[in-house]
Amino acid sequence: MRTVLLGAPGSGKGTQGVFLSKKFDIPQISTGDLLRAAVTAGSDLGKQAKSAMDAGALVSDEIVIGLIRERLTHDDAKNGYILDGFPRNIAQAEALDQMLVDLGQPLQGVVLLDVPFNELMQRLTGRRTCKDCGAIFNVHLSPPAEEGVCDNCGGELFQRQDDNEATIENRLKVYEEQTAPLVGFYQQQNKLHTIKGTGDIDAITDAVGAIFDDI
Ligand code: ADP
Ligand code: ZN
Repeated sequence: MRTVLLGAPGSGKGTQGVFLSKKFDIPQISTGDLLRAAVTAGSDLGKQAKSAMDAGALVSDEIVIGLIRERLTHDDAKNGYILDGFPRNIAQAEALDQMLVDLGQPLQGVVLLDVPFNELMQRLTGRRTCKDCGAIFNVHLSPPAEEGVCDNCGGELFQRQDDNEATIENRLKVYEEQTAPLVGFYQQQNKLHTIKGTGDIDAITDAVGAIFDDI
């Protein structure tokens, strides 16, 4: 199934993407992860992307569309995928539609994780990620048993470079201005499903899973 998880920074796209990817055995494709890998690898693309990411601004459409175009050709994307963090503006959504029309495999559904604005800030400032297994904790909302240590694997927890207050504020502003219009865009295509993104994490996974089952 070819799907998009839509939602503000901190809405839980990453967390839900990991669970749903396992459950449905399709890859979670996150442009944020692809870009961070390029930055870590020190590639030209990573160097071009880094300043925008540090500022909480969008990386150029050309770069992210190129990343997605390439990633969708991998074998594991044959039976579908969960796009996480892409598209992020109307131009990217139109480019994606065009790409998929060319392949004769249009998107099947878009799930919006709806989280009130005031909760997003707390989630983002408190977020800590395991260096080894990628598990996500929150020092305010779901702290690990031992500070700085992953409950799952004992790995070290780190804070993402763009999870500081100034950058977070800008990411949320960019979401409101550039990404939120996608809600109307996908509504018009009759592909939008909205899920309440607060409360029990497993219940959210089940709710999104039920939508995936139907499409
Ligand atoms: P979040 O959704 O929590 O802000 P992501 O990991 O999805 O985090 O993205 C981190 C950063 O990577 C963004 O702030 C932006 O700079 C860049 N980025 C990710 N996806 C895109 C995209 N589709 N278009 C432009 N920039 C992107
Ligand atoms: Zn871990």
